[in-house]
Amino acid sequence: MGIFDKYRGIAARREVVRALGIDPFAVRLEQVLSPTRAVIDGRETILLGTNNYLGLTFEPACVEAACAASRRFGTGTTGSRIANGTYGLHRELEEAFARFLNRRACIVFTTGYQANLAMLAGLAGPRDILLVDADSHASIWDGCRLSGAKVIRFRHNDPEDLDRRLRRLAGEGECRLIVVEGLYSMRGDVAPLRDFIEVKKRHDAHLFVDEAHSFGVYGANGRGVAEAQGVEKDVDFIAGTFSKSLGAVGGFGASDDPDFDLLRYCARPYMFTASPSPATMASTRAALERIAADRGLLARLWRNARHLHAGLVDLGLGVCAPPSPVVAVRLPDERSAVWAWNRLLVAGVYVNLALPPGTPEGLCLLRCSVSAAHEPAEIDAALSRFAELARELRAAA
Ligand code: PMP
Repeated sequence: MGIFDKYRGIAARREVVRALGIDPFAVRLEQVLSPTRAVIDGRETILLGTNNYLGLTFEPACVEAACAASRRFGTGTTGSRIANGTYGLHRELEEAFARFLNRRACIVFTTGYQANLAMLAGLAGPRDILLVDADSHASIWDGCRLSGAKVIRFRHNDPEDLDRRLRRLAGEGECRLIVVEGLYSMRGDVAPLRDFIEVKKRHDAHLFVDEAHSFGVYGANGRGVAEAQGVEKDVDFIAGTFSKSLGAVGGFGASDDPDFDLLRYCARPYMFTASPSPATMASTRAALERIAADRGLLARLWRNARHLHAGLVDLGLGVCAPPSPVVAVRLPDERSAVWAWNRLLVAGVYVNLALPPGTPEGLCLLRCSVSAAHEPAEIDAALSRFAELARELRAAA
């Protein structure tokens, strides 16, 4: 038996997708020209699938901060903070996040994935119960597994289903931690946090919100969906990433719990991996300052999100959720989704092809994500490519 034999099903599926054109999982960005433009396959392409919500990847202050930090502190930290020490930059960034989020404490992690692993596996243990929204990101499920806690999945964005499941538990489990996201990355829908909080209070549980896609994007100050819904004080733990609105790579967790810091001594994905690099910490700090200083970023992001959403709805395409910076178009099956994704790319528009098992409920999606850096003309250009696609899909139906 070959060691890769268990993946023959995946290999066969990859061949079917490849046969339809360019391999969607091996797209090469030959040059990145700006937050919204790249050269792919020799062609200048509009990027409409980056998670670069605020377009800060080329922000001069962020680029300069990263370069200066590399010169001053070197290219890497070469170890974990527990074993190899904390840089002033780590602490300063944690303090900057805590101030930005108006929270007592923050811990930074090497990626958003690790933030979820560390927080969930650190907060919950074998005697606890995790109640997890069914649409949660892989990093949440992996964190649950690492925790050893009992895991109960409830229906996506359904506080009544959560309530039912908590009632059935009748006090079982030492601690009960409810885990949801702010903005869901596939369909682009938002958690009804106020309703979840009612349920949490009724059952004496804690609430963890992953604001990976909503930090910098929702709320008057960009603190996320909890801020937008006016419920921050009832959210016990927040997780987030530097890899989307902040334009870098890394993650954070924040809380008002006076014991939050204990995670540094018990969360393995914090203790046993190298800490974020000087460049990452410096650019992220500059990005935080930029978000705090410039409300125009949020305004431009939402103008573009509404523009794209309205245009796709007008074309009669199956848009999954109300306007948000993630606008996902549903296609009937995998074959048509791959075909449509190819058509867009060849026409100079890059979106994300999202297929099961990476999507909820077996959805086949063309996932678009909007940036504050998009010019309205770029959104119009993308919409005219979608219009051609809509005509072709209708003709083929
Ligand atoms: N949480 C959610 C909801 C995500 O979508 C992602 C990544 N797409 C992560 C966490 C992990 O973030 P990172 O890419 O920084 O590891």
